[in-house]
Order: sequence, then C-alpha cells, then structure tokens
Amino acid sequence: MIDFHCHLDLYPNPKEVIRECIERGLYVLSVTTTPSAWQQSSALVEGADRIRSALGLHPQLAHERKAELELFDALLPKARYVGEIGLDGSPELKRHWAAQVLVFEHILAACKSAGGRVMTIHSRRAVPAVLERLKAADGAGTPILHWYSGGHGDLQRALDLGCWFSIGPAMLVSKKGRALVAKMPLERILTETDGPFATVGNRTAYPWDVDIAVASIAEVKGINREKIKEALYENLRRLLTSTTSSTVAASP
Ligand code: MN
Repeated sequence: MIDFHCHLDLYPNPKEVIRECIERGLYVLSVTTTPSAWQQSSALVEGADRIRSALGLHPQLAHERKAELELFDALLPKARYVGEIGLDGSPELKRHWAAQVLVFEHILAACKSAGGRVMTIHSRRAVPAVLERLKAADGAGTPILHWYSGGHGDLQRALDLGCWFSIGPAMLVSKKGRALVAKMPLERILTETDGPFATVGNRTAYPWDVDIAVASIAEVKGINREKIKEALYENLRRLLTSTTSSTVAASP
C-alpha cells in the first residue's frame, strides 16, 4: 500500500516504524517540515527502496524558518519530492500570513525553475489562496493536496488545475470528507496517514493505517478493495513516470 504523506522522522521510534514499513512492503513518502531536517530524514530511509523523503518547509513554521529558504534552494536539485509546503489560514496563524505566502511562492518558483517536482501541499482554511498560487506558478510540478478540507467548488477548480489528492483515514470519518472523496476522480487519488499528527480512533496513526483509508474509499466509490488498491498502484506509477527525473541530480 501507499502512504504518500506522513512524517516518519517525527515518530518517537522512527527506526522501528521504518522497519515495519519495509516488512509490509509499503510505499511511503516521508515529508519534512524544515529544510534542515531533510538530510537527516533522507539518511534515515536510505536503502529502503520504497521510501522517499520530501524536502519541505511547513506553513506553520514559515515565519520562524524563512531564513532556511537558501538551504531549500541548495538542496532542491537533489530532491525529487517537495513537501510539506502550502498555506494555513487558521486564525492563530493569520499574523504570519505574509511570511507563509513569501515562503510558498518562493518554493513554487524554485520548483518551476528546477523543471517541476511532485509536491505535497497543506491547504487548511486556505484552499482558494493555495490554488491562486498554483495557477500563477504553472510548471512547478504536480500538486497533491493532502487532507483536502475545502469546498466543492474549489475541488473542481483544483481538478482543473491538475491537482491530485491524498486521502487519509481521518478525512474519511466525517460525512463532509466522504462527500468530497466521492467527487474526486479515482485516477487522481493517493492514500496517506499524516502520522504521527493524525489519529485513528484515539491512537496515533501509522503508515500501514492506509488500509483503513482504502476500505473507506472502496465503500464511498462502491468498488471492491482489490480494485481500489490496483488503481492506487497504477496512479503512483503514472505520477512517477509523468514527472521529469532528468532534472534531478539524485533521487533520494
Ligand atoms: Mn503533515
């Protein structure tokens, strides 16, 4: 199975979690929240064929870490995946909005001039603003909106802009989340957990909990689980073959 957005380096026991991911044959994209965390996070998953580390600067940390954009630019040639990036319009982060926009726009421009990247994007309470920037930065790569919680109109706009969606168990608990997933074309979907931040019931989510998302997607779409799994693997293959790897110096 596929967990296309989790934070392996933030589990209290990352090595054990990684070992279990390998044993289970999971494909995992481990996102980072700061450029300075990326090298260590990459080292952690070195040798794990199906696990990759994404270079990110989380919107919630943009105001504290914007000085790391220089490091981001220096590392980008070696990174095939970018995230977690994006914007967060939550009330407690409003006063840092300008810094968030500066960081997000900078990263999109950098991805564009690097020839495009697969990007995993945070858009909580900020979907229209995220889409506006993606539209302006056409060529930045393939955007995957993680844990989408916007409206139905914006969902259509996102699809028109070429966005994909990664869907986790937490998102499928609510009626609203399920209604959104019902409208997402199966060929634009991947699964995620957002562990260890997200929970399943009242425990921390682990990458293998994507099985729960697969079961819910199957239910929402009225298609059996095996067919959903096949479609997700096919999506991952298509996503990775459609992005330019010739511009990436290495693919850690
Ligand atoms: Mn996350």
